[in-house]
Amino acid sequence: MQVTWSDGHVSRYPWRYLRGWCPCAQCQGHSGTRRFREVEAARLEYVSVVGRYALNLRWSDGHETGIYTYPYLRDICPCCRAEEPAAAS
Ligand SMILES: [Zn+2]
Ligand SMILES: [Zn+2]
Repeated sequence: MQVTWSDGHVSRYPWRYLRGWCPCAQCQGHSGTRRFREVEAARLEYVSVVGRYALNLRWSDGHETGIYTYPYLRDICPCCRAEEPAAAS
């Protein structure tokens, strides 16, 4: 999935990556810390826009409770995450 942001930044998310970072309570539990869940053969089936602030993704395994807000999506952008440690050191 590809997202082009208003500042021109382009984020490319592999499906497995996006599925793994599903923000819903079912995937993330209630621990408060974000975690990555490995889901084999995750396939994105449908994307619907939730108001003006988020995307709802539906997966081939029927999972569809993940509401990915735009700030969240930007936060997990693979290229930005990769750059973070380098910028900090
Ligand atoms: Zn989920
Ligand atoms: Zn990025």
